[in-house]
Amino acid sequence: MRLLYEGKSKRIYDVGDGRVFVEFKDDITAFNAEKKASPEGKGRITYEISRLLFEYLKSRGIPTHYLEPGEGGFYAKRVRILPVELVVRNVATGSIVKRLGVEKGREFSPPLVEYFYKDDALGDPLVCEGHITYFGWASREELERMRDIALRSTELLKELFSRAGLRLVDIKYEFGYDDEGNLLLADEISPDTCRIWDSEGRSLDKDVFRKGTGDVVKTYEEVLRRLREALSRE
Ligand code: 5GP
Repeated sequence: MRLLYEGKSKRIYDVGDGRVFVEFKDDITAFNAEKKASPEGKGRITYEISRLLFEYLKSRGIPTHYLEPGEGGFYAKRVRILPVELVVRNVATGSIVKRLGVEKGREFSPPLVEYFYKDDALGDPLVCEGHITYFGWASREELERMRDIALRSTELLKELFSRAGLRLVDIKYEFGYDDEGNLLLADEISPDTCRIWDSEGRSLDKDVFRKGTGDVVKTYEEVLRRLREALSRE
């Protein structure tokens, strides 16, 4: 398989038949890669969670790039990634608290959707619909479709996490187009890309690494165990 792209936590290989293989590395980074580590087992656990969540969403009608599981990663449709990330917030924390002075822990109902321009050199800045359509990163219709998929996915995930005794606080989504022109939920869905709190408000996500408050692999294993348990009760 030919390496197409190497990111901070994943490698994407071209399988050669319209599929890519998404391999999860042990690497974890925060603060635009200023903080780095490679805890053993982190790639495997992030892959397992991402696979479980994509399979869950796919089985409930969400269009995703996910195809099937593999060794240390999954097979996905090859897509052209749009340069806009959507963050859906159920509870205020993180950058919105710093940026707007919103009270930490405030609930957003309905959820709040924000857009970020994918550009490491600029630190993925917050952008508005005007920027996105003016600069041609996505059209108004595309944005509306991404927003709809992101909100439906968040509702489904929120429900699953709640059954696992967990709270889905916020989550980041990326989208891409496949060769047939379908808009698909892409990238990964894991505790690296969302925030999860337990019933006591303890973080079970990448904030553990950002703040250095615990063992990332053990924390993510706890998330996987709880999600599997919730799904087995269905
Ligand atoms: P915030 O804007 O509060 O920093 O992040 C909101 C949510 O999106 C969090 O769950 C965070 O993990 C996720 N997120 C935002 N940008 C990125 C990014 O560039 N990479 C990753 N892995 N997650 C991100």
